[in-house]
Amino acid sequence: MLTMMKQFQTVYRDAESFQAVLQDWKKRCLPDTQAIIRLFVSGAEEEVLAEACALIRRVMPDCPLVGNSANGVIVDGAISEEKLVIGMTLYEKPTSFVKAHLIPVDPDADLEQFRARLREEGINWEKVTAAELLMTISTIPFDAVARILDEEIPERILLIGGGAFRGSGGPFLFMGDSGKRQSAVLLLLVGGVELHGVTHVVQGWKPLGSELVATRSEGRILYELNGKPAFDTYHRYLRIPMDEHFFENTLEFPLSMKKHGATLFRSTSSCNPDGSLVTSTEIPEGTVLHTNYGDPQKILSQVHKCVREMAQFGPEVISVYSCFGRKSFWGDSETASQETRPLEAVAPVYGFCTSGELVRVNTPILLHNMTMVITGMREGGPVHRENPEEEETGQEDSALSLISRLVNYVNTATAEILEANRALQRMACTDRLTGLLNRGEIQKRIMDRMAECPLDSTHLIMLDLDDFKGINDVYGHQAGDAVLMGVSEVIRQVAEEQSECSCGRWGGEEFMILLAGHTDGEAFRMAEEIRAGIAGRNFPVDRQVTASIGIARAGKTERADPFIGRVDKALYQAKATGKNRVCTL
Ligand code: GH3
Ligand code: MG
Ligand code: MG
Repeated sequence: MLTMMKQFQTVYRDAESFQAVLQDWKKRCLPDTQAIIRLFVSGAEEEVLAEACALIRRVMPDCPLVGNSANGVIVDGAISEEKLVIGMTLYEKPTSFVKAHLIPVDPDADLEQFRARLREEGINWEKVTAAELLMTISTIPFDAVARILDEEIPERILLIGGGAFRGSGGPFLFMGDSGKRQSAVLLLLVGGVELHGVTHVVQGWKPLGSELVATRSEGRILYELNGKPAFDTYHRYLRIPMDEHFFENTLEFPLSMKKHGATLFRSTSSCNPDGSLVTSTEIPEGTVLHTNYGDPQKILSQVHKCVREMAQFGPEVISVYSCFGRKSFWGDSETASQETRPLEAVAPVYGFCTSGELVRVNTPILLHNMTMVITGMREGGPVHRENPEEEETGQEDSALSLISRLVNYVNTATAEILEANRALQRMACTDRLTGLLNRGEIQKRIMDRMAECPLDSTHLIMLDLDDFKGINDVYGHQAGDAVLMGVSEVIRQVAEEQSECSCGRWGGEEFMILLAGHTDGEAFRMAEEIRAGIAGRNFPVDRQVTASIGIARAGKTERADPFIGRVDKALYQAKATGKNRVCTL
């Protein structure tokens, strides 16, 4: 008989019918078979849950049993609102194994205790292929716990999982007769030489408009985006009001950020009267974000792509961790099932709607939101079913939805405006003739530098062409312009070799250079190089062009105006002592 992984699932109705199901499951467990029973609890009453657990222990006392709070469960490929769904995964290869570990987390204690508890489990990681990781995300110091798990679990082990649903009663996990644990980590380890797994993260949201920076945030409170109350973004661009429907309205527009090369989405669960937002998970200050939009057509096209790839892998069982926010996005579980049902054509699907999805594939553990994490597992070679997934292929431009066209319009127009803005900004501080900074910009940089009261040195180098009026008079204004361009090229070439150096045209045939963090010697050598460069250059005029140069170093508390006055004086000295020379004051 062909041995392979199997998945069974049943909705709990009453003790009698469940007992019959259990008897059937028991028969399917051969002597060498490893199995695990999982309970997904979406609001089942305590007594019902206790009854189900007691029956499992009576009929299959040796089978590990674990459970978690959920907000909807995937049954027969569809998202169901049943309160209690029970599944059994069978591993039939004698080399395969499955083992569960429930590790409580004391959020107030030193987390090294958690590390110690994890080590006490005595797990032989060498045998482990993949681990499902369930956590009560909102009740534990998530980042610290995830870091310890990253350190303790060898990198090659595929980690996927989700947050037990936090709901109104808080999240919980349990194992055997541990009772509900409100702050814990549950590890379901599977291993075996012939066990293979592959994971896909389905998102489908697309960026909208220009970038936003989290300029003020603290924990899960996002106060400001681009220096304005975070709510303004939702109101100004999307006309979403600050009312009790804020969560549902913003679900279609989650925020995204990058972490370890992956895109993570964050939903906003509510809005405070001060315009700050409560986000699904922490968004550190300085994070660059985007608003995104959910186009049902695009989202489904991602699902179908994943289904095709999964079909190629040929799994025996598929697990799905789907953010409960996706269900809300679709409106109801029936509509949301469009996302999960196509997978059932590839292999039996189990899973639940989470408060956060966890993935570690070539990165540290990442906490996603608004995502569907799909993992296919098999014990041997690929399994290919008949006719999996015929629907949908690549989206042609001619078949784009109205929403996609509108978003494309907005994004393209935004990019054009941003580019035009950048060009305007460049123009506003550039001198037209020479391409160096203009007077306003170089003056601003000198002012800014002096206002900083820098600890390292600041130099100004000022340059004025000698007898330039004569060049204009003899060779014409155009030739004069060509000389000015040639001079600015010399300045640019010398300046390119210097760090922290700004060069500008001060006016007419005068130039100013601001140097930060250089010695007197370096400033002088630079000035001398420019002077010699001009004097030795061939200009389109039949005479040598020269320049006089002044240098000054800023005093510790000197202000910009007197400093500029002093460099002007140094330049005057160079003129007065014979021109074509560098003078320091
Ligand atoms: P000195 O050695 O004392 O500096 O003599 P100078 O002739 O260079 O001094 P002055 O300041 O009298 O002359 C500067 C001339 O620069 C006057 C003006 O016609 C010319 N000039 C100013 N801006 C431009 C420009 O944009 N293009 C051209 N071709 N000439 C300019
Ligand atoms: Mg002059
Ligand atoms: Mg001059």
